Amino acid sequence: MQQIKDNLEQIHQAIQRACEKARRPQSAVKLLAVSKTKPVEDIQAAINAGQLAFGENYVQEGVEKIQFFADKHPELEWHFIGPLQSNKTRLVAEYFDWMQTIDRAKIADRLNEQRPAGKAPLNVLIQINISDEKSKSGIQPDEMLELAKHIINRPHLRLRGLMAIPAPTANLTEQQQALSAMNQLFEQLKAALPQQQIDTLSMGMTDDMESAIQFGSTMVRIGTAIFGKRNYA
Ligand SMILES: *Cc1c(COP(=O)(O)O)cnc(C)c1O
Repeated sequence: MQQIKDNLEQIHQAIQRACEKARRPQSAVKLLAVSKTKPVEDIQAAINAGQLAFGENYVQEGVEKIQFFADKHPELEWHFIGPLQSNKTRLVAEYFDWMQTIDRAKIADRLNEQRPAGKAPLNVLIQINISDEKSKSGIQPDEMLELAKHIINRPHLRLRGLMAIPAPTANLTEQQQALSAMNQLFEQLKAALPQQQIDTLSMGMTDDMESAIQFGSTMVRIGTAIFGKRNYA
């Protein structure tokens, strides 16, 4: 558990170094701790070290953790970051604070209808398939504005920006092209919707965090470097 605290400290330092290099304030980049497959004890250790925002990929697992911490730590912020089937939207609408992987109007409509009236609007990000991988979810860049305009007319959703999972690559130029393209899309979205609070570009994981910050990421999603390797067995 001390390990998780130490890991978090190192990541904050790495974020700070990357921000200095990119001439951005450290406050411009938020750390999302990706706790998928990890037990509540690990999450508690991260909370004790000051971490408040957590990302989960699987609906049922995420909801169980949210319920576990609901009374003890109502200040936590939960982000859904996995692929979502339309028959599972209700639990996301009822429990999560953010939904990062919107990739079609139908999912947006269901989340909007199912968001409980007493809750703040669900913060949402549009997922872009920036590396154009056949197997990956997310929309094509040229579909972004149409989906964004659809979302901003849904009163129980609040569009906050974009999310991407660039294909892992050892080729630095390729990696930077994808991150740079996301940066441009983010600027385009902000310019097209000046009335909206578009402030979030979610990109950067354990292996490409520094480059992502260089290219304007405002939220890095880190799992392995905080909690260690995942065991899917
Ligand atoms: C698992 C996951 C992460 C964290 O990846 P690490 O390489 O463990 O840091 C980030 N984003 C998404 C969408 C994920 O599924």
